[in-house]
Amino acid sequence: MASKILIIGDDSSRLCSIPAQLNSLFSDCMLETAESADEGLQKARADEPDVILLAVGTPQMDGGEVCRRLKADATTKNIPVIMLSTGHGEAKSKVNALETGADAFIRQPFDAAQLGAQVKAMLRIKRAEDSLRKERELLADLVNERTRQLQKSEELYRSIFEIAANLITSVDENGVIVDCNNSIKHVLGYEPEEIIGQSMAEIIHPDYVDKAVESLKEILAKGSSRNKEYKMVRKDGNIIDVIINSSGLTDQNGRYVRTICVITDVTQQKRIEQERERLLAELQSKNKELESIVYVASHDLRSPLVNIQGFGGELLKSCREFAAVFQDERVPIDIGEKMLGILLEDIPDSLDFICTSAARMDVLLNGLLKISRFGRDELKPKRLDINTMVADIAKSMEFRIRQANIRLRIGTLPDCTGDELQIQQVFSNLLANAVDYLDPSRSGVIEFAGHVDDGQSIYSVADNGIGIAPDHQEKIFEIFHRLDPEDAAGGEGLGLSIVRRIVDHHRGRVWLESELAKGSTFYVALPTSQSVATKG
Ligand code: ADP
Repeated sequence: MASKILIIGDDSSRLCSIPAQLNSLFSDCMLETAESADEGLQKARADEPDVILLAVGTPQMDGGEVCRRLKADATTKNIPVIMLSTGHGEAKSKVNALETGADAFIRQPFDAAQLGAQVKAMLRIKRAEDSLRKERELLADLVNERTRQLQKSEELYRSIFEIAANLITSVDENGVIVDCNNSIKHVLGYEPEEIIGQSMAEIIHPDYVDKAVESLKEILAKGSSRNKEYKMVRKDGNIIDVIINSSGLTDQNGRYVRTICVITDVTQQKRIEQERERLLAELQSKNKELESIVYVASHDLRSPLVNIQGFGGELLKSCREFAAVFQDERVPIDIGEKMLGILLEDIPDSLDFICTSAARMDVLLNGLLKISRFGRDELKPKRLDINTMVADIAKSMEFRIRQANIRLRIGTLPDCTGDELQIQQVFSNLLANAVDYLDPSRSGVIEFAGHVDDGQSIYSVADNGIGIAPDHQEKIFEIFHRLDPEDAAGGEGLGLSIVRRIVDHHRGRVWLESELAKGSTFYVALPTSQSVATKG
């Protein structure tokens, strides 16, 4: 870029030869001249030249004064000024000229080479100063921007710190609390100023102080500590359970010197968890107790039943023998007929009722025994190949399936984790029901399918049988519940109760979709083969 040079001096300053001299020295310089102090100052402000050549003093103009004004003006103060002696007032020394703020002084007569060299030096200095100033300005902008960002992030940090629901504290390397947010009021019942400056041992439960000291060492060494459980003591003396996550804060040398700890009050959560565990344990023990009562009761009730059935038979035999006595011709006819009616009809009829009821009771007790056994047997979970299992079950029912001309389709079934015998029972019961409750008016189709979803193996057994009305869909899982007790198909109304019980024990789920007169699909969800084995 061309250099701009401004020459200030009136006619009497004898500077008129300078433009020609400079032009011969600088091919690309733009020269401006001003003949009065005011014009010079105005041009200097407007054009911002790179160098100003200023006559020291003429009768019309005090060069020293012009120089002072140039150096006092913010726009022109950085423009180098070369004072030129004019021949007028030569008595004014170079020193005086420089004191007015001038950057160089050249005495008359002007030597073109000396003038050129001085202007060049000034231009160099000006450029260096300009670029230095620019860099300084850029640096200042950068520092300002960084300071603003820092302030903003400090404000953000502070507001997060203050509005956080969690209690946040900062502890120094000696375990002294150096900062905490307002949550300390509701978490521990203290005002922040009561706690800042105190040792962390003030709020940590005495049993946990050693752990806290160890943890502080860990944070100062490694920079963090995660999910540590502690007990803390509130101002009112109550003890709370907390989980603390901490990070280290470094000094300018990168050494961890403070910690920032986010403290979550989990007292309520812990209480709920403990209560839930207590209730669960109570439920399990009550269940076990009930199961053993059912087991013992159903087992013990069977022996009196055997007696009732046995002695009923004996009684019937005795009746027949007794009847033979009344068939004797010596017995009067009216008495004989009456007694025979009692012995051969009334008593056998009653005995028949008694024995039928005893037999029904035997079936029920058997069912109860079976059910309670599934609750008592310990699970032996392992990976199960359900394809092979279902194929085996289908084989065992092949005769019935063929006889009823049923189309049985079995898709590819995923493995699962479970007790082999019990899971076999589940799929046998479901397939047996699908066969039992087909609609005799159409040819039966039964389909087994399966897939894995959300960590569970899900199986379905679909039939095109008689279907189940919506009102009954939940009831069929109840013990001894049969939709049609007179129906010869099916059994004692136990199959689905057993299915639900087994599936529940495997922490699985059984449910169905069904439409009356169209068919039913039973679904079973069990842990996949990757799942951790369940406990009974
Ligand atoms: P059970 O078959 O011995 O009667 P379950 O507990 O296995 O006992 O079934 C209970 C009742 O649910 C059955 O009596 C029957 O009415 C109904 N049911 C079960 N499976 C089906 C099915 N696939 N289609 C229609 N009804 C069914």
